[in-house]
Amino acid sequence: MTSRISSVSPAALVDFQWWRMAEGRWIGPKNQRLLAGHPADDGYQPLKSEPALFRRFADQRDTEGAFAEFAARYGDLDGGGVVVVGDHIATAEEMASNDPFLVYSEGRSLQIWRGHRQMLAFAVRLWDAINEGKADELIGTDLLVKPYDSLVEPGKPAPKYMVWTRTASAQHDLGLTTPKTFDEQFEPATPLMKASLPEMAARAALANLISEMCATVRVVMRVTSAQPDGLRLTFEVRSLIAAMWLQFALAVDGQREYRPCPVCGDWWDATEARSDRKTCSDRCRKRMHRQTVSGGTGV
Ligand SMILES: [Zn+2]
Repeated sequence: MTSRISSVSPAALVDFQWWRMAEGRWIGPKNQRLLAGHPADDGYQPLKSEPALFRRFADQRDTEGAFAEFAARYGDLDGGGVVVVGDHIATAEEMASNDPFLVYSEGRSLQIWRGHRQMLAFAVRLWDAINEGKADELIGTDLLVKPYDSLVEPGKPAPKYMVWTRTASAQHDLGLTTPKTFDEQFEPATPLMKASLPEMAARAALANLISEMCATVRVVMRVTSAQPDGLRLTFEVRSLIAAMWLQFALAVDGQREYRPCPVCGDWWDATEARSDRKTCSDRCRKRMHRQTVSGGTGV
């Protein structure tokens, strides 16, 4: 082989380590709940070992228990956060203290967990609808398409439509600036569209949302010199939420396919799997087989 660059994709060169959450617990009064914990000792590589992680997160329920379980299994969404001591937010005295017996953790609010999940789930829903040819079912519920003519400046070429997405509440939870809209629940997704509807509307909204969120959570393009075959393009992420948006963007770009496992319920990456494979792993395949043999309800 004498190819000038290797066939390794930019995605395969992403070097991202993360830590599961240890001693995770919910603290604080009703309207200020925080999931606090600290990184476990051993790191792992989510993008290499959990190829369907963004889908699992998008499918979570918005409950404290579900988020705590996710954090214990995959880690906090980001580093930093509110400093916590025991079951409360650290006081000024505790922050300034030199007491070696004080144990500090970091906390992230339920609003932030929910906002991130809802934003990602919305994007995944758009993608699924596009792939299944059902984008029209989203119009009026997840997407609004409005004629643009009333908003056009005189003398400027007129786009025909403007797409609005139901992401305003997630934007609010994440503390992102939400423009005032004619409808409190919707958010302008794309200002310019001369498209046939509704597939184009869904696609334009999805493209815009992925681009915006990757910028917000800081998915960064990098050139790496660590490869033996020279300088190569790759990506850098420094948080689990950024890793999940990168994973989703690469899935959209690579038209990857995911299936839910009938045994454990988890999503798995089925892009390169045989069409008759149903389960996520050998373990689940054997479990399904045992259930079938023992006369269970297995397939
Ligand atoms: Zn499974």
